[in-house]
Amino acid sequence: MSHDEAPVCARHDGDVRMSLRTLHSDANRPGELVGLFECPECGHERRLPVEAAA
Ligand SMILES: [Zn+2]
Repeated sequence: MSHDEAPVCARHDGDVRMSLRTLHSDANRPGELVGLFECPECGHERRLPVEAAA
């Protein structure tokens, strides 16, 4: 996973990149990682599945 793929917070007009806070696995989907992203500007949190490296 590249850090350039961080999601953009939808609450701003400009591009505010959300930072990855934690990674956790979904019990219903073994092998798939879910990343918890947080916007540094407004604190909005968003969960996105990320591709596991292996
Ligand atoms: Zn934001």
